[in-house]
Amino acid sequence: MPETAPAPRSAAWETLAAVMCDVRALGGAVSLLQWDQETFMPAKGAVARGDQLAAVQAALHERLTQPRVAEALDLAEREASGDPDRAAALRALRFDHERAARVPQDLVRALAQAQAEGVDAWKAARNARAFALFAPKLARLVELRREQADALMPMLARRPEAQPDPGASEPYDALLEGYEPGMRVARLEPILRRLVGWLSPLVAAIDAAPAPEDGFLSGRFDGEAQWGFTLELLAALGFDPAAGRQDRSLHPFTLGLDPGDVRVTTRVYEAQPLSAIFSTLHEAGHGLYEQHLPGEHRRSLLCAAPSMGIHESQSRLWENLVGRSLPFWRAFLPRLAARFPQLAGVAPADFHRAVNRVERSLVRVEADEVTYNLHVALRFELELGMMRGTLAVSDLPEAWAARSEALLGVRPRDDAEGVLQDIHWAWGDLGYFPTYTLGNLYAATLFAAAGRALPGLDDAIAAGDLAPLRRWLAEKVYRVGRRKDAEDIVRDAAGVGLTDADFERYVKTKYGALYGLTL
Ligand code: ZN
Repeated sequence: MPETAPAPRSAAWETLAAVMCDVRALGGAVSLLQWDQETFMPAKGAVARGDQLAAVQAALHERLTQPRVAEALDLAEREASGDPDRAAALRALRFDHERAARVPQDLVRALAQAQAEGVDAWKAARNARAFALFAPKLARLVELRREQADALMPMLARRPEAQPDPGASEPYDALLEGYEPGMRVARLEPILRRLVGWLSPLVAAIDAAPAPEDGFLSGRFDGEAQWGFTLELLAALGFDPAAGRQDRSLHPFTLGLDPGDVRVTTRVYEAQPLSAIFSTLHEAGHGLYEQHLPGEHRRSLLCAAPSMGIHESQSRLWENLVGRSLPFWRAFLPRLAARFPQLAGVAPADFHRAVNRVERSLVRVEADEVTYNLHVALRFELELGMMRGTLAVSDLPEAWAARSEALLGVRPRDDAEGVLQDIHWAWGDLGYFPTYTLGNLYAATLFAAAGRALPGLDDAIAAGDLAPLRRWLAEKVYRVGRRKDAEDIVRDAAGVGLTDADFERYVKTKYGALYGLTL
């Protein structure tokens, strides 16, 4: 980023700079409390932790929504400072302030209550494998999300910078905007329809081909040796151990408190050696993004990714485009085999085939690259139906089963395997799932662009040198922070915005070769 001349001092800006500094600090404190909760907190700390989180989150909300923020924003926006970063920070603060301030306090409280009840009911329903126990709570959450969307809709109409021809807005857009600013259903629906159109026959063709041999992945893989290998991977990717750490958790995640303090987690199963490897690669992708955010803006809202989709594009890029590639395993299989002698005779090409096994399965989180977006398409259709009022909550289990059969070719035996498998709806998160597919598509587009910009990229990866790719991504994506919307970052880096063309080319080339198919 070019250095810009210092902008003139202004009382309104000073006020807002202090607000942003506090919002960042309180947000970091929330992350740290959450990280500890998932890693080291003793079980009996849970009650107090709930109080601690609620108090810090309330302080953050109050700081962001106080009326003088709106007054200072009005003033500061009128002062043309000539500093593009300051203008971008004001846009980000205006966005966050309005999204928080437009939702009435009663509704915020009702949502928090419904989410807590939703998670409890979802857990009970999963144990009983009976959706009916969760249905009334989900219906309540959908109703409250509609109210929230109504309160936020006026903000959508005022975003001329939203991506090309977004068409008419609908309530789902207002929720989507919370995860993926600028994205609209009118743009997502046709993309997902196209994806389903070419993925379904591809899955059928792969299904008819012989499955790759992966017998060498069974047996016991020592947990400590696995842990050592994940640290080796973090180092190879360039994750800075002086600016972050890796620990263990049940569900792997990444929390960035600051570019100088990024926490990633992984999990180790001795019978499933790939779990730790790919969890670490995935979270390291998130972690690299966080470590390379513009630290000079650490006290401003610009020191963040602009969307969940672009963040996920980086976890997917390192996990899949790099970590499931043949050049990567040419470099890293010998290092893995040095820790696990049972892999000594395995060829990189065979290992590559084994880590790219495609399977029709019921479970999204275990899905491969080819079927993953079909799981997302299923959820997107159903939550869109709920928000539009065309699908009743009581009809959800049957709709899920029917669409699962149509899209994935498998039908859940019960609600736990189907409609109850993700926790997202229990949190009331509607509009989140599509960001996973956006991540997959952006990852393919960015990786293709990196390949054009960096001749010899495959050779560097095959030599274990991941620095050129990391540097390119840092410059084009990570260091932009929140100065631009996600799709603009991708368009500026790759010359094209949201498209499934690069993903289609990547998937068909790779899996056509792996499964001996002419596509
Ligand atoms: Zn992720």
